[in-house]
Amino acid sequence: MRVLIVEDEHKIARALKKALEQESYAVDVCYDGDDGYGMATTEPYDVAIIDRMLPGDYDGIGIVKGMRANKVHTPVLFLSAMGSVNDRTDGLDAGADDYLTKPFALEELLARVRALLRRPNEQQPTVLRVGDLTLDTVHFAVKRGDRDIRLTSKEFALLEFLMRNAGRPLSKDVIISHVWDYDADILPNTVEVYVKYLRNKIDASFTQPLIHTLRGFGYKLEAK
Ligand code: CA
Repeated sequence: MRVLIVEDEHKIARALKKALEQESYAVDVCYDGDDGYGMATTEPYDVAIIDRMLPGDYDGIGIVKGMRANKVHTPVLFLSAMGSVNDRTDGLDAGADDYLTKPFALEELLARVRALLRRPNEQQPTVLRVGDLTLDTVHFAVKRGDRDIRLTSKEFALLEFLMRNAGRPLSKDVIISHVWDYDADILPNTVEVYVKYLRNKIDASFTQPLIHTLRGFGYKLEAK
């Protein structure tokens, strides 16, 4: 899952990025409103965390309004140092989905981000299941049958994306844009390399493979 942070306070932005990366998100950071507006309206994010007060032509309200005007429906968590009822409703009126007042606990922010990721489909469970493979998005646990499988953070992020889109053909470009951040060093075979790591762990010693290669296109995760 890919997250955009628009926050001009570098210390807060760094802390958020680090905390989100520890939870396997791919994270991009913009430090001013104009960059934030550009990224939020052109790159595919699963969640955006946007501060209200920002340098540049666009403040947080302007970015959210611009996203919605451009039919970008990425869930937005709005941040602000101000906490009056008016500030709260301004953010939500502009099209933000949730609102958090600084200072906040990182745990609280992570919980809100998880809730926003679930919102498009309220029934979406925190444990994803495809065949006998399960992935627990809260406890970062992966199992195939009774066997515990240990994954690196990037492998986990890749598997989570494949499982959330199980049965759907996914191009390498789509996979890259949701699993890797903008600054990541992506080589032409990066996805292949990580899929190979995943296959060694979740498919190699089982009779039924779950990851299927779609030649010249990408991959599909499916229990057939
Ligand atoms: Ca600010």
